[in-house]
Amino acid sequence: MSINEAELPSHFIRNIVAQDLSENKNGGRVHTRFPPEPNGYLHIGHAKSICLNFGLAAEFRGLCNLRFDDTNPSKEDVEYVESIKSDVRWLGFDWGDREYYASDYFEQLFQYAVQLIQAAKAYVCDLSADQIREYRGTLTEPGKNSPFRDRPVEENLELFRRMQAGEFPDGARTLRAKIDMASPNLNMRDPVMVRILHAAHHRTGDQWCVYPTYDFAHGQSDSIEGITHSICTLEFEDHRPLYDWFLDQLGIHHPQQIEFARLNLTHTVLSKRKLLQLVQQGHVAGWDDPRMPTLAGIRRRGYTPESIRTFCDRIGVAKRNSTVDIAMLDHCVREDLNRRAPRVMAVLRPLRVVITNYPENQVEELNAVNNPEDPAMGTRKVPFSGVLYIEQDDFREEPPKGFFRLSPGKEVRLRYAYIIKCADVVKDPKTGEAIELRCTYDRETKSGSAESGRKVKATLHWVSAAHAIEAEARLYDHLFTAENPDDVDEGVDCTRNINPKSLETLTSCRVEPILAGAAPGSRYQFERLGYFCVDAVDSSERKLVFNRTITLRDSWAKVEKAGQK
Ligand code: ATP
Ligand code: MG
Repeated sequence: MSINEAELPSHFIRNIVAQDLSENKNGGRVHTRFPPEPNGYLHIGHAKSICLNFGLAAEFRGLCNLRFDDTNPSKEDVEYVESIKSDVRWLGFDWGDREYYASDYFEQLFQYAVQLIQAAKAYVCDLSADQIREYRGTLTEPGKNSPFRDRPVEENLELFRRMQAGEFPDGARTLRAKIDMASPNLNMRDPVMVRILHAAHHRTGDQWCVYPTYDFAHGQSDSIEGITHSICTLEFEDHRPLYDWFLDQLGIHHPQQIEFARLNLTHTVLSKRKLLQLVQQGHVAGWDDPRMPTLAGIRRRGYTPESIRTFCDRIGVAKRNSTVDIAMLDHCVREDLNRRAPRVMAVLRPLRVVITNYPENQVEELNAVNNPEDPAMGTRKVPFSGVLYIEQDDFREEPPKGFFRLSPGKEVRLRYAYIIKCADVVKDPKTGEAIELRCTYDRETKSGSAESGRKVKATLHWVSAAHAIEAEARLYDHLFTAENPDDVDEGVDCTRNINPKSLETLTSCRVEPILAGAAPGSRYQFERLGYFCVDAVDSSERKLVFNRTITLRDSWAKVEKAGQK
């Protein structure tokens, strides 16, 4: 991927890397990694981390590894491993042959553990999880030493061997680092390094019944891979002293951990645990539901990888937590689709229009522009005939002030076609609803002809009834009504803030015939309505299904404008 360096805003991590390079630190190497735990699908927050890690490596001619941090067998699954790989690829990044797993290092990690036991820096502890917590103390009170802290080295080695041999039940013993129970940093109060867990692992199967904790696995995995800059989110700042401690005690290659603020987005939850809850409780149709902030959901919704990368560049990288307005993401998506999406006409809620003076059985092929932003995208033919559909919203029998679309006696232009006038309204005798408009057209007003300059106040989109294809459209809104979905009273969770109207399905839409056989995932602008993409899961030759990616209205542009005043 080509990166235009002049366009990239600088940030503190880029500055650190550039400084290290100028001092020839790490022998002039830059090596980063993206380390997901395969316990869920990636979300747009992960995209920030992916763009940062892979982006820095590309910018400084370094490497970036994909490493699965798979130390917790009970929550992990190969389904997640596969989804993560396809999501990183979709975003446009390549880890070459550097696909690694923390589980490949278990053997080595347990050897490191033995090394620390031998140096009297680790011990086997018989306290239960509850007791360990009790002994740990609090932020204001120091902890208490475990009664097992001063076990002789030989006894520790023997017990650790027996832990690995499967002689003890889950939770019966742990291996702990011997640091300082009075440290002001709770992470340094003899943290657990290895726990007993008789659980099958998605890769190592039943080979192990002990597993390293995150803290004991992460830094050493970075070290084994020769990582130079270990970039993670702010919540790991308090873990950095421990990260450094293990590497220093072991005397092995010592990468530099650097923390940055995670991405938070309005109207969105970005936590795999909460996203899993939405899936499991059926609030959404799955991890790839187009309302989900997962990369799988976003992709299915029609967002482009380019727009996600632009978004990640624009939000920048900071040291302080903040929340980004989701309108800014929408803005990046619109900006990209505006450039690349061909325009077509589609009617979501059809209202039949009969042009009474149009020659019966006549069909005209009218010229339509595929993308006014890009003349290279050319033109296409759109069939026009005497029976059309327009949008129900574009007609009012009693137009309110300022309504310039169609109403009895009024004229509008039909895009690429003629000016029509509404002469009569046919109503459903039961409901009184307009079900058909009887209109006349002015044949002198064809778009592009000499007379076409006559002024009317509105131009409407339409399709020809006999030629249009029936389709389904799924219109999405924020999954959460609240700007901060986690802003809830005690005892309730974010699902309380779910938007009951986040999905509206319209089953009798009509689209231009050119869309017949449109490929799954292909994206279009439906004129005046928004950007839509062919659903990659449910759409078929028999029934086209479109997801509305985003409307045309850009609220972010307004936010920006207001900010400039
Ligand atoms: P979650 O809180 O959603 O469960 P996680 O941090 O547990 O996320 P990991 O699989 O451990 O998920 O994350 C892989 C990498 O992505 C980590 O380096 C993590 O710091 C980073 N990351 C996760 N969430 C975000 C976010 N919202 N913004 C930026 N980076 C993130
Ligand atoms: Mg994590």
